[in-house]
This record gives sequence, C-alpha cells and structure tokens, in this order.
Amino acid sequence: MKDIDKPTIFEKLSPSNIQLYRKIVQYLFLVTVVLIGIKFTMFVSQLENGIRPTVARPPGIEAFLPISSLISLKYWLVSGVFNQVHPSGLIILLMVLATAVLLKRGFCSWVCPFGLLTEYLNRLHRFIFRKNVKLPAWLDYPLRSLKYLLLAFFLWAIILQMNAVALEYFIYSPYNMVADIKMLHFFSNISNFSLWVLIIILVLSILIRNFWCRFLCPYGALLGALSFFSILKIHRSDDTCTRCQKCTRTCPVDIKVHKTLSVISDECHACLKCVAVCPEEDTLYISASKRKAILKPWVYATAICLLFIGGSLAGRLTGYWQTGISNSEYLFHVQNLAMPFYQHNRGEVPAYNKEAWLRMMKKIREGQGAMRQAHGDAKPLNTKN
Ligand code: SF4
Ligand code: SF4
Repeated sequence: MKDIDKPTIFEKLSPSNIQLYRKIVQYLFLVTVVLIGIKFTMFVSQLENGIRPTVARPPGIEAFLPISSLISLKYWLVSGVFNQVHPSGLIILLMVLATAVLLKRGFCSWVCPFGLLTEYLNRLHRFIFRKNVKLPAWLDYPLRSLKYLLLAFFLWAIILQMNAVALEYFIYSPYNMVADIKMLHFFSNISNFSLWVLIIILVLSILIRNFWCRFLCPYGALLGALSFFSILKIHRSDDTCTRCQKCTRTCPVDIKVHKTLSVISDECHACLKCVAVCPEEDTLYISASKRKAILKPWVYATAICLLFIGGSLAGRLTGYWQTGISNSEYLFHVQNLAMPFYQHNRGEVPAYNKEAWLRMMKKIREGQGAMRQAHGDAKPLNTKN
C-alpha cells in the first residue's frame, strides 16, 4: 500500500507527485500565454501609433484562432498548401490533435489556461456549497451534447460547405489576415453584450462545475471524440483494488472509476488525479494495454511538454511558424481596419478581388524590402513570400 499521508518535502518533490508536476506544467503554459498576450498587445499598440514595430509579433497568438486553423487544415489536406497567413495556428492545431490521439484529452488538464481557471472555479464551487453539486443525469447528458452540436456546426460549415476555392478565398481575405488583431480588439473594446455573456458563463461555471469545458467548449468536444482513438487509457486492476472509491470521489468529471476496468470516456481529461490518490500500488495506472507498459505519470508529463516544444521547433525549422505578413502590411491593415472589407458577416467574409488584393500586398511587402535595402537595415523581415 502507498503511504500517501503526510508527505515529506522529498516526497512532495518526487517525480511520483504527479499533481505538483501537472500544476507546474499548467503554470508554465499559462505564463507563456500571458507573455504572448503582452507581446502581441505591444506589437499592435505600436502599429496603431503608426510605428514600425520593434516588438516581434508572437506566432503563438495564432493558438487563439481555432476556426481559421481548422480552415487552414482542410485547405492543406485538399490542396497540399500549408498557407503562410497563420501557419503557427495550423501547427498548434496539429499539436493539439496529436495530443488527443496519443495522450487522450491531456491538453485540457495540462495545457489549456481555461482548464486551469476551471479548476479554481471548481474550488470556489466547493467552498460555497461545501460539496461537489452534481447535475441530475437527465439534465447532464443533454447539456453535454451541446458542445458536440457546436462542433458539428463548425465541421459542417467548414468540412462540408467549403470547397478549395472558398477555403482559399477565406484564408487570403483581409478579414483573416487581421483575425488576431480583431480578437485582441474584441477583448480590449468588449461590448456590453459580450461582457454579459462572459459574466454569465463565469457565474454558471461557479454554480455548475466544469460548465464551459463539459457543456460548451467545441474544442474539448473535438479532443474528446479523438481521444477515443488514443491507445492510452486509465486502467484499474480488480485484483488489488479495495474499492475505497477515492478515485471516483476525486475525479473532477464524475467518472465512476472504481466501477470500471478501463476508463473509456470522452470526458476523461487525463488529469491523473485518480491515479495520484489511489492508495494501492499499481492498481490504477495509465497504460497502452492492461498491466503492460505502465506509463509513469512523469513520463506522461514529459511527453505532453515535448510534443508542444517539438511541434513548435519543427514549425520553426521548416519555416512554418512566422506569418508571411510583413510589418509594412500590418501597418497598412491597422491603418485601414475600419474599412468594410476587414469586417465579416456571421462568419462570411465580404466580397473582395483576391488577385488584386494579393498583388497589392506583394507591392507593399516589396516596397518595405526596397526601403530596408536603401537604409542598409540588416534586420530580417518576418515574411516568407
Ligand atoms: S482503484 Fe484505487 S482508489 Fe479506486 S477504488 Fe480501487 S483502490 Fe480505491
Ligand atoms: S478518470 Fe482519472 S484521469 Fe480521467 S478525468 Fe477522472 S480523475 Fe482525471
């Protein structure tokens, strides 16, 4: 039996204290996201002041453009072209999808900052109600299907409704080129309506545990569906299990771990909390097959970090990390952002002449190159085209 009472400082820091390491990984990703946000805000602020940016645009900002990335993914699959408008968005999407297939829904509980926020809101929920309030099954199941309906809508609109021409038209549209700046403006100039929606989601997330992740997040739905293909599962050995139910009580998504031999659920976030609390040695574990190749939790933590570090390195090395949009183009975009062709109507981009638009962008880019050569400025451009 594992001694899990009163851990010493060495036990706390031991590689087997998986929850400590999960927290460290979560906070590292949170700090990365915050730094990306700050850097991008500075980049846009310099553009808005008419200054040629001295702060480089952080490619990681494209992680917040999942729809654009999904469109890029389909375009890549049907045309073989890995577009240079938001290449890191597509790389990040591929990394996240790979996590789901290889490591279950670990993205939600190890990487996603909203997952971390949800954990703190769950604590607040327990503090207020003094227990975990569970929704009745008749309400929980229909609500859980909402995120799949949202996902189905996006997949229908992108996979079924958009052919290669429509995909390309969206990707190179003025709207998509500034989608990241638009997203920043959405939060910095948030409308009363959007603010109220966010407040309502926040309040509901306190009243109902995992409200956003469990009921509404279409990204989570996609990862949950893909996680069924993951060879890794949480397994329980019936021989050594004492049915103490600690695993079930600690599971944040209410999976009855003590009643199953293998957790097969789209809701399992691979947080490994159940594994951490199980007092019996090798009774609850994550592995590709029962009893064989039990994956030590620290190996799982290392794998998820390496997947993201490796993916971004691969993007950098292959030249698919930095956007092909030059700073001069960004200056042009920001100065003209109020023009109608930068807007969108319920997801549809306004009509524009793609060839003429791309010719104009090329001229601006080449003009920047000529100016830089004339001034003997050795600083490389962040454009690929
Ligand atoms: S798997 Fe572990 S924590 Fe869960 S019921 Fe069995 S002994 Fe208890
Ligand atoms: S089953 Fe275990 S790993 Fe999955 S969500 Fe529940 S506690 Fe986390």
